[in-house]
Amino acid sequence: QKNWIGKSSGVEIRFLLEKGGSITVFTTRADTLFGATFMSLAPEHPLVTELSAGTGKEAHVRSFVERMRRRNKSSIQSDDYVKEGVFTGAYCINPVTGWKMPIFAASFALAAYGTGAVMAVPAHDQRDFEFAVKYGLKRVVVIQPANETIDPGSMTEAYTGDGVLMNSQMFDGMENIKAQGAIADYLEKEGKGRKTVNYRLRDWGISRQRYWGAPIPVVYCKDCGVVPVREEDLPVILPEDVEFGEDGKSPLVSLESFTKTSCPVCGNPDCKRETDTMDTFVESSWYFERYCSPRYENGMLDPECVKYWMPVDQYIGGIEHAILHLLYARYFTRVLRELGLVEYPEPFDRLLTQGMVCKETLRCPEHGFVFPDQVLSGADETRTCRLCGEKVVCGRIEKMSKSKKNVVDPALLIRKYGADTLRLFCLFAAPPERDLDWSDQGVEGAYRFLNRVWRLVRDYADAVAGTAPLDDKENLTGDLQSVCKKTHETIKKVTRDIDGRFHFNTAISSIMELVNTLYGVRENFGSDAVTCSVIRFALESVVLLLGPFVPHIADELWEKLGHKGSVLTVKWPEYREDAIREEDRLVVVQVNGKVRSRFTIAADAGDEQIESAALSNERIISYLGGRPVKKVIVVKKKLVNIVA
Ligand SMILES: [Zn+2]
Ligand SMILES: [Zn+2]
Repeated sequence: QKNWIGKSSGVEIRFLLEKGGSITVFTTRADTLFGATFMSLAPEHPLVTELSAGTGKEAHVRSFVERMRRRNKSSIQSDDYVKEGVFTGAYCINPVTGWKMPIFAASFALAAYGTGAVMAVPAHDQRDFEFAVKYGLKRVVVIQPANETIDPGSMTEAYTGDGVLMNSQMFDGMENIKAQGAIADYLEKEGKGRKTVNYRLRDWGISRQRYWGAPIPVVYCKDCGVVPVREEDLPVILPEDVEFGEDGKSPLVSLESFTKTSCPVCGNPDCKRETDTMDTFVESSWYFERYCSPRYENGMLDPECVKYWMPVDQYIGGIEHAILHLLYARYFTRVLRELGLVEYPEPFDRLLTQGMVCKETLRCPEHGFVFPDQVLSGADETRTCRLCGEKVVCGRIEKMSKSKKNVVDPALLIRKYGADTLRLFCLFAAPPERDLDWSDQGVEGAYRFLNRVWRLVRDYADAVAGTAPLDDKENLTGDLQSVCKKTHETIKKVTRDIDGRFHFNTAISSIMELVNTLYGVRENFGSDAVTCSVIRFALESVVLLLGPFVPHIADELWEKLGHKGSVLTVKWPEYREDAIREEDRLVVVQVNGKVRSRFTIAADAGDEQIESAALSNERIISYLGGRPVKKVIVVKKKLVNIVA
């Protein structure tokens, strides 16, 4: 967005034309003004044709301009863009040196940037340098780097770094960064220029010649001109009785019941309504603000609701929204704030741009890209085209697109596996901000996991019926204790992964681990009440944690566990920190190979802590009796070996 807005502070400098009149240029590099030796105009600049008139160059200039009109403007910024131009035959005067500067129409000058005119400083701008070399134009060095002397005659490229000014009259010896301000001040004082801020961003034409969009509320009256629709008549509603033609034109144009209207000012009944509609970006720039109070009648936004809901906590969108839509939305919010309708400066607190779904491409030498179901897989892993029998080449993994035919039909997969399987696969295959590589095996794996969960709940459903979940590991031992602890750990991990971090893939994998744990200890479990209660706690947690990812199967399983209603209305499970904490650890202390003491220490204590605890242990101190310690070794946080 920063590049897009392209804010730059600089100076507008007026260059008088030799023949009278002037050209204004915008530059951020006023410090190089004394090195400006020629002028480049965008071919579209209105002065180009005017200046060449009567110089004998008209025809030449006209054909160049004609050719440039058709150039690809998006490549102009690239370094290898061909710099070419044509002399207009006219000159302007450098306002500080008095030099006569030839004026060129140049391919790399952009009508849309600044004023469409560029003062060219070949010694200090690479594009100007290349242009000057090509057309044999004067180079004057005005910035000298420290500890180096640049010879304008032998330089092979422009010097674009910092330095001190030379050949710049009273500014000689000044650092160039400082000189930018000093020369700007000087020009302002002399009435030859004006400090200003320039933007790359252009005005935004919001009118579209299509049906789908908000009508622009304007009426054309032959007496009053362009007149806005009266406020009490807003909004102008899009008519529904339209006929779409095959010419692609907006049907509004030919719909007389819509276009014919009277003048809001003089009442003239024979007026025409505007048929252009607004660019949909206009609405998408503030819908989230209106959504806070969609039925509010007394204004654009209900201040109370906006205050409560906005700004948006989390914006999720494709990268294609990151520039235009989000920029417009921020701009609208600024305007709304200036109008006093909202109080916050930015509409969105956080942005997540999700990755794309990618898949390998398949290409038949005869038929080009082919769909996966047009490919026959042989036993020896060779793949052939169903249509012609040629061998199919497996290409790069690319963003799914219809033209590359590397797409999957979600409807088919949903019929085969159910929507939950697809959701689980997509969420598990990659973190949301990364691209996701589609894998049929991955889909199969997600399906198998859900079946595993299903069987687990089914197998225990009867045994745990009527028991209450037990989530306190106090008094539990062995497998039951570890199942309880693992469940709390999983709740903690999933909660943290989902909340704000969107690490859905790691959240799902920890639920898978818990399910594996439950399968692993299943054989050892009896059917006593305590066991059933712990199992119930674990199973209910699995189902609730899976709820956001696979809501359909989670609801079914929740019911199997004897509940009514959807898991999405059930409170999110909570973990107990005390159930997760590791037990204190027992450490044995040996001196010269013999056990002399034992102590317990927190499970998360590091080697250094264990070592100092061992050395300050009372029994060890008295045993050592002041003997110097030669060496201390901590083994696996369980044993401390002291050599004395
Ligand atoms: Zn009128
Ligand atoms: Zn083929």
